[in-house]
Amino acid sequence: MNLILFGPPGAGKGTQAEMLEKKLGAVKLSTGDMLRATAKSGSELGVKLKTIMESGALVPDDIMIDIIKARIDQQDCTKGFLLDGFPRTLPQAEALDVMLEKECKQIAHVIELKVDDEQLKARICGRYSCASCGVGYHDDFKQPVKAGVCDECGSTEFTRRADDKPETVSKRLEAYNAQTAPLLPFYKDKGLLVTVDGMGEIDAVSAEILKLVG
Ligand code: AMP
Repeated sequence: MNLILFGPPGAGKGTQAEMLEKKLGAVKLSTGDMLRATAKSGSELGVKLKTIMESGALVPDDIMIDIIKARIDQQDCTKGFLLDGFPRTLPQAEALDVMLEKECKQIAHVIELKVDDEQLKARICGRYSCASCGVGYHDDFKQPVKAGVCDECGSTEFTRRADDKPETVSKRLEAYNAQTAPLLPFYKDKGLLVTVDGMGEIDAVSAEILKLVG
């Protein structure tokens, strides 16, 4: 099954995609993770991406479309994929339609996670992750059981995203409202859109999504 996880930054798309990856055996395709890996590489493209991402703006469509096209073509995506962070603009959504049509693939559902702006800011501004295994934590909502030690792998190194600063978060929310939210009617018209209340506990949101994709 191919799904799109849709919603503003901090809505829980990545967390729910991880859950769905385990339950459905589909592959999570996070464009943010892909871009951060390229940015870390220090290549010419990486330096350009890092600057854009740290400003809170969106990466140009042609780059994003090439990245996702190459990824969807890989063998592991034949068992289904979960798009987390793509598409984010109308040209990206249209390019995705063309890619899928060529490969006789379809999107089963677009799952919108709805969370209010205050909650989004609180979630994003306190989050951090293990520098070794990547497991996510939060200053207020999810601390490691033993302070300063990752529950999963025991590492004592943690990292925060450079674009999770309050001023950049406001820019990312503006980009979502101006460029990404207009995709909601696009998917509604296709009959693919389902909206889930993303304000609840992680497990409650997961249960709701599983009921829908059941
Ligand atoms: P995310 O991890 O999904 O919050 O993405 C982090 C940043 O990567 C965004 O703020 C954008 O700068 C960039 N990005 C990720 N996915 C896309 C996309 N589909 N189109 C444009 N920019 C993207």
